[in-house]
Amino acid sequence: MEATLLCSTGLLLQYGNSAILFDGLNGRHGSFKQIDRTLAQGIIQGTLPPDAHIDGLFYSHLHPDHYDQPDNAAFLQNHPHVVTFFPTREMPDHGTLQAGAFTVEYQYHEHMPCEYVWAKHYTFFVQAGETSFYLTADAELLPEKHRTFLHGRIADHGFFNAVYLSYPETRKLLRETVRHAWIYHMPEPESDGGGICKKAAKNLVRYGGEVPNVTVLEQYPTVILR
Ligand SMILES: [Zn+2]
Ligand SMILES: [Zn+2]
Repeated sequence: MEATLLCSTGLLLQYGNSAILFDGLNGRHGSFKQIDRTLAQGIIQGTLPPDAHIDGLFYSHLHPDHYDQPDNAAFLQNHPHVVTFFPTREMPDHGTLQAGAFTVEYQYHEHMPCEYVWAKHYTFFVQAGETSFYLTADAELLPEKHRTFLHGRIADHGFFNAVYLSYPETRKLLRETVRHAWIYHMPEPESDGGGICKKAAKNLVRYGGEVPNVTVLEQYPTVILR
């Protein structure tokens, strides 16, 4: 299993010669990291990843920091048979899709409060081989809703927004429901106008003992598993 963070919440997962992409062809919004043009072009042209083909294209929701319409249209033109998940209001709240080697279970989960236009938002439990992932993107801080979806499963790798480090009940969620908790959706440190990186670092100093399984991801791309 291979996993790489490409951009803000953009993850490329690869198992054997099968790969899937979550929030990977994204746009620019605020200080959040957009995928590099060379990486995006490689994905669109089918040269990235070099030794696998992309079987699924999934989006947590269609906000611009997660999704770019022209790049996705270009990708689909070259890869018309890929499994897609572009959330709209009409989509079912829960279900499972198979994309290549990956089983992807999706669950409607409210977006955290924001000033941007409403978008239907999902979390994903992803499995291939022996490895599982829990992807939460911009999910509202509802620990019980996460626990209901996971129903006792412990994901090998969970991905969460830095705001989950700020509250005792969400730190408990990170500690108890995933083996390794990765903090993503971080701005690039040099353009961190809102102080998100500083706040995450401060939270880790203060509460790190409660979440010994946490790593903050601030570089792009970052190889998480190889
Ligand atoms: Zn959003
Ligand atoms: Zn976002």
